[in-house]
Amino acid sequence: MPPLISQDTNKALSSALKDLVADQALPFAAVLHGGEPLMLGLRKLRELLKSLRESLPDTHPISMQTNGMLITNEVLQLCVHYRVSISVSIDGPKLINDQFRIDHKGKGTYEKVVAGIALLNNHKESDFLYAGLLCVINPHSDPSKIYSFLKELGAASIDFLYRDGNHSVLPFGKESLESIEYGEWLCTLLDIYLSDRAAPKIRFLDDIIRLELGSQGIKEGLGVTDYGIAIIETDGAITKNDTLKSTFNGADQFSEKWSIHTHRLSEVFNSEEFKQYYAMQRATSSACTSCDYINTCGGGMPLHRWSDDNGYDNPSVYCNDQKKIISTVRSRLILEGLVA
Ligand code: SF4
Repeated sequence: MPPLISQDTNKALSSALKDLVADQALPFAAVLHGGEPLMLGLRKLRELLKSLRESLPDTHPISMQTNGMLITNEVLQLCVHYRVSISVSIDGPKLINDQFRIDHKGKGTYEKVVAGIALLNNHKESDFLYAGLLCVINPHSDPSKIYSFLKELGAASIDFLYRDGNHSVLPFGKESLESIEYGEWLCTLLDIYLSDRAAPKIRFLDDIIRLELGSQGIKEGLGVTDYGIAIIETDGAITKNDTLKSTFNGADQFSEKWSIHTHRLSEVFNSEEFKQYYAMQRATSSACTSCDYINTCGGGMPLHRWSDDNGYDNPSVYCNDQKKIISTVRSRLILEGLVA
């Protein structure tokens, strides 16, 4: 892939999204992510945001997921102008963050990320701009320290993610398929969250609570959902969710070579191959379809279901962690008299 999106692809993207607004009744969100979207530099970022905003009305959500290292006041002004909100990825205090988040020279990114978040938090339009923080869980960390640290950074919303991994390559920090390091970590976080009257939102826990109360989650990865995710690469190629890359080489590719230069998005989304990919969100393993937690767990994200022997036809590699956190939420709701 070219490292940066070209002006031609910018234009094709703008008209592809304009067409999608006309063709598709269902709402959708546009998210810039990477690599690192701010590597574009100010001039190319302006071109991209301008063409995106020209294709989508002001009320249509456009957001950016960034490592935060290149946030400047000029970048923030552009984002205000084109109504683009920003979420920053950070895993915790320096020692935890810099264990995995390093720059191309292998140096920890902590100082630059925190400086970027400070600019975002102190901006006069931060209520709109600062969408939240994204933290990948390190099960060896102390959840109370991670929580206090992220809360201090001023985000109104924090999202926690499981690490990549599957049945053939266990995620970092997970001893075995049966172990529950992540589940226990999340249960400690739940206790802290529920006892804090001034807590930021934690989407992962809120979704479990919502789903246990019979409502809907708001993001992929929990619940029996019907989200469609399409990735548009820097050359305009249309691919599957890039998280699938962690399963096997080429897992994110369609057999059709679709591109926004040559195809209309609605045509791609209505194709048989896209529908099969979309259906992958639904868990197929008999352990999941007969599971008492399926409505809340949903069988986990497809990438976490993968095994070299059995494809995606497995419960999540985080199955026991999911059971631990969902059953704990369920007990708390029963204790509070919110569910029978
Ligand atoms: S992954 Fe485990 S907890 Fe989730 S639905 Fe499947 S069997 Fe149930």
